[in-house]
Amino acid sequence: MTLIKAVRGTRDLLPPETELWNRVEATARRVFARYNFGEIRTPIFEDTQLFARGVGEETDIVSKEMYTWEDRERFDVQSLVNAWTNVQINDRGFVIEGAIPYVLREVEKFGVRLILGRRNPEKPEFVAFGAKVTREAIEALSRAKQAIQTKRILPFSPDADYLRRFGPGLRLVVPAGLPAEDVDRGEVEIEEFPGQFSKSVQSLTLRPENTAGVVRAYIEHKLGETGLLQKLYYIGPQFRRERPQKGRYRQFWQIGAEVIGPPSAGSESPLRDAEVLEMLASFLDELGITGWKLVLNSVGSSTDRPRYIAALREALKDKAPQMCGDCQRRAETNPLRVLDCKVPEDQPIIETLPRIADYLDEESKAHFAAVLAALDACGVQYEVNPRLVRGLDYYTRTTFEFTHGGLGAQNALLGGGRYDGLSEMLGGPKAPGIGFAMGLDRLILTLQNRRADEAPGAGQFALADAYIAPLSDTQNAAALELARELRRAGLRVELGDGAFRLKKSFEIGNKVARAIVLLGEDEQRSGILTIKSFATGEQTKIPRGELAQALR
Ligand code: AMP
Repeated sequence: MTLIKAVRGTRDLLPPETELWNRVEATARRVFARYNFGEIRTPIFEDTQLFARGVGEETDIVSKEMYTWEDRERFDVQSLVNAWTNVQINDRGFVIEGAIPYVLREVEKFGVRLILGRRNPEKPEFVAFGAKVTREAIEALSRAKQAIQTKRILPFSPDADYLRRFGPGLRLVVPAGLPAEDVDRGEVEIEEFPGQFSKSVQSLTLRPENTAGVVRAYIEHKLGETGLLQKLYYIGPQFRRERPQKGRYRQFWQIGAEVIGPPSAGSESPLRDAEVLEMLASFLDELGITGWKLVLNSVGSSTDRPRYIAALREALKDKAPQMCGDCQRRAETNPLRVLDCKVPEDQPIIETLPRIADYLDEESKAHFAAVLAALDACGVQYEVNPRLVRGLDYYTRTTFEFTHGGLGAQNALLGGGRYDGLSEMLGGPKAPGIGFAMGLDRLILTLQNRRADEAPGAGQFALADAYIAPLSDTQNAAALELARELRRAGLRVELGDGAFRLKKSFEIGNKVARAIVLLGEDEQRSGILTIKSFATGEQTKIPRGELAQALR
C-alpha cells in the first residue's frame, strides 16, 4: 500500500522542536502585552474577494499562490430522503398532471426545477431539480410530494440527458423494480449532476496573510466607533502555493500585529510606526536573536504612489524589454514589483529607475523623517533602503523588513508597513494603520542555527522530574494515583507500567527522567517510597508526604 505523507510544502512539528515554538510564541505574547496589544483570532478561510481587494489582484499572492475553492452549499442527503418518505406514492405512479403547475410554483420559489418520472420496470425513475439545494428546497420537495399524492399521474419518464438540459442539480434515482414500500421508505439513490449551483456558490480562500482578515474584523465589529487605537496581534498558519524550499512552505506560521484606528485616535502618527519597530527590536533581542537588521523606506502616500508608479511605467517602457520575463509582466501589471526582482542581471537596470524618495510630497517626507528621528532617539539601529517596496498593494508610507544573514536566500524574518487606505478599500471607514507579519518558521530556523553553535544539546527533550515504576500490575492503579498527586504538585511525571521488568523500568526511566520512584507492595503498604537519582546514582527512601519536595 502506498503510504500517505504530509502534503508537499507542509510539515509536522514534533516535540522537542515544538517547545521552541511555544517559547517563541510565549515571548511574543509577553512582549506584546507590555505594549498593550490584545490577541485577535480570525478564521483561517475567508471570502476570496477579501484578498482580491485587500491584497491586490496583481500581486503574486493573489494571482498565483492562493488556495481557493468553490464552496457549494452541501445538500443534506438524510433530509432529502426523509422528504421523500413523507409521501405515500401510490401504485399508479408519481406525478399527477394537475399537480404540475402547483409543484412548479411551490418549488421554483426556491430556484428548484422539478421533474417527476413514472414507474417503469425498465428504467430508473426519478425526481430531479436544479439550482440551490437548501433546507427550503427540501421542504418544498416534501410539500410537492404531498400534493402529488392527491392528484393524477403524468406519464413521462425523462432520461438523464433530458435532465442535464436543466443544468446542474440532483437526481433521486429509484432503482428499477424496487417494491413500492421501499420507494415509500425513501430508499433512493441520490445522484449529483455536474456543474455549479449558481445561487449557493461562494468562492473561499485559505488566508495567505492575516492583515486583510484583521481589517475586515475591525470593520465588521465597528471597532473604530470606540474612538481608540486598536492594537491587535495574531499567531497562526497562513497558506500560499509557493515553490517549497528551506524556509519557504505552503503552510507557514506568522506572528503579526496591527495598530489601527480612526485618525482622531492618532493612528497616522509617525510615533506609532516607531513604537511598532521598537517593539520588534525588543522582541528579537528578548528572544536572543542577534545580528538582525532593520531596513526601511517610505513608499509615499496614496497620492505620491500613483505619480511614482506613472514615472516608473514610463521609465520601464524602454528598459523592461531587456529584463527578465517576470519584470516584463510586472512592468505592465504592477511596476512597483519590478523593484523586488532578485535576478542579478536586472539589478544594474533597476539602479537606474526613478526613486520613490524623489516623489514624496512634503507631508510624507516629514512623516518619514519623524519615524527615523524617533528610532534614533531610542537607539534602534536601521538602514534606509530606497528600493524597498513590498509585494502587497496596500502599503503606504513606512515599509520595513527585518532581515537575518543566517537565513540565506529567504532572508526576511518579517515585513510590514503602513496601510492607510486599506479599510476604505474594503468598504470601511477611514482607519489608518501599521502592522507587520513575522515568519515563525524562519524565526525558529534562526534560533536553531544559533543554538547549534552557542548551546550544543539545546532543543532536546526536557527530562521529567520523575519516572514512576509500579513493580507489578497490582500497583498500576496506585501508581496512577501517585502520579496524579505529584503532577498536581506541579511536577513533570512519566508513568511506567507494572508489566515491565525492573531492568526495563530503569532503562526507560534513565532516558526520560531525572529520577525513578519504585512503587511495590511494600512501598504501597508502608507509604515509604524508594527513589533513585540518575544524576548521582544515589538511592533513598522517602515518606510519600515529602516526595514532591524531594523530587524538585
Ligand atoms: P509577507 O506577508 O509576504 O510580507 O511575509 C511576512 C513574513 O512571513 C516574511 O518575512 C517571512 O518571514 C514569512 N513568510 C512569507 N512567506 C512564507 C513562506 N512561504 N514560508 C515561510 N515563511 C514565509
